[in-house]
Amino acid sequence: MGAPIRHFTATTEQGQVFTVNIERDFRYDPYRDFLVCAHCDWSPSLLTTRRIIDMAGEHLASAHGAGRGLAQQENESFRKGRLIVLPIVAVVLIAFLVLVTR
Ligand SMILES: [Zn+2]
Repeated sequence: MGAPIRHFTATTEQGQVFTVNIERDFRYDPYRDFLVCAHCDWSPSLLTTRRIIDMAGEHLASAHGAGRGLAQQENESFRKGRLIVLPIVAVVLIAFLVLVTR
């Protein structure tokens, strides 16, 4: 489905790691984000005022017994992609300004 952009991980007493992902679906305009558990069918609505990390942590703890060391990481390839896109946008903007002000 979407591209995972952020991971929430937590660990069980036995050291097993469970992950909940935020997936961004670009088929929508504007894009939509979904919270999806990597281990079960859990995918709650994000139309809530609750913090996503709280929802993810609660699910990991209650459904998978992973209550330790809740952490979040940005997806590595997504982060790199943004680092590449930003300079390109800057170059295009500068080129545009040069053309307009000439
Ligand atoms: Zn789950």
